[in-house]
Amino acid sequence: MDDGIAMVKRLLGLPGMNVLEVFEGDDELVIRVETTETVGWCPGCGVRAQPQDRTMRSVRDLSCFGRAVRLEVRRRRWRCREVLCAIKTWTEDVDQLDATAVMTRRAGAEACRQVGQQARPVAAVARDFGVCWWTVMNAVTEHGTPLVDSPDRVGTVTKLGVDETSFQAARPGVATTYVTGLVDLERRAMIDMTPGNRAADLRRWCASADPAWIAKIEVVATDLAESYRAGLSPHLDHVTRVADPFHVVRVANRCMDNVRRRVQTEQLGHRGRKADPLFKIRKILLAGSERVTEGGADRMLLGLRAGDPNDELLGAWLAKESVRDVFVTDDPAEAALLLDKTIAGCLADDVAEIRSLGATLARWRTEILAHHTTDASNGPTEGLNLLVKEVKRCGRGFENFEHYRLRVLLRAGKPTWPNRPTPPILRTGRPHTHA
Ligand SMILES: [Zn+2]
Repeated sequence: MDDGIAMVKRLLGLPGMNVLEVFEGDDELVIRVETTETVGWCPGCGVRAQPQDRTMRSVRDLSCFGRAVRLEVRRRRWRCREVLCAIKTWTEDVDQLDATAVMTRRAGAEACRQVGQQARPVAAVARDFGVCWWTVMNAVTEHGTPLVDSPDRVGTVTKLGVDETSFQAARPGVATTYVTGLVDLERRAMIDMTPGNRAADLRRWCASADPAWIAKIEVVATDLAESYRAGLSPHLDHVTRVADPFHVVRVANRCMDNVRRRVQTEQLGHRGRKADPLFKIRKILLAGSERVTEGGADRMLLGLRAGDPNDELLGAWLAKESVRDVFVTDDPAEAALLLDKTIAGCLADDVAEIRSLGATLARWRTEILAHHTTDASNGPTEGLNLLVKEVKRCGRGFENFEHYRLRVLLRAGKPTWPNRPTPPILRTGRPHTHA
């Protein structure tokens, strides 16, 4: 049978370490260990070294039975006896310990997994481990960067999505800053993030990418932003550009919202309030007509009759619905017919906002219709956007773009996490049912 020390060694699982003592600290378990090497060699000249005294370091390890663990590691100092050698003394290396680390490597890897894979706030993980914020963030950088940079993470991409997200919300004196996300539309993985949303920003990213990789991209889906359309040139001149259907419909929705606000203010002299007829129906107006119930349609018509005397909002609603119809059909020829009718109708409208919508649609006609021949859209990446939002929420306003990028790519970039052992499942009996 094992003695107590042998049992603790098995629990600890650090080969090459002797356990000296286990004792209670303040809300932590302290395990004092020391290295077992008795023979050392000089890393400079290779001569056999002379053992000196030991030095002590405290590091955090993985928690044990729910309790924080501190390792007190006693490492040996060695001395080189060779007079001509430049190396005088050194402290031995330990597998799980990096020179300046406050956590063991395995604890750092676990902290990185909790922040990166599970999108836990750095501060919360730091609190659990009993280390400071920077210790955890450094562990995320150290263990996460190789996962994100691994050449296996991003394979050949044929359908690329380009989309902007806000990075830092506007503050007094500072405008909202944006970043551009690059998405593999087929694998639904975030490839990269780059600061800015201007043409030059996209161009800079393309220029830094491998030309052979860029050459294999066939389709790029973007929103209706001139900056991105311009930024695809010259590196991505060979691709088929697609205007993402979600963003096309959003442009039509915005047009309708603008008309509603203006008509509302003209009719009532103030911005929308709860009891105003147009304000009350704003959500029904935005919903797709096929999803509006009969009661909803009645309320919508009533609201329009009361608040939209010149049928301006009704016109914008019809324009929005005809934009949506373009994406209902799968047939490219039919889609072209529907889009051209929509553009002509909008351009001839009396309402300025609707004419402007028509002009936007006309400018993007080729890209809008390319959806039907390429079947590319950012639509399937909704789930990805949720992952990005999780990261954003737990960071409560990132200051550092590199941290943000790393954490988004760890969460939404499908890195290959190191394998964890999968223990056998302990089964319970059937759960009780209350019939
Ligand atoms: Zn030496």
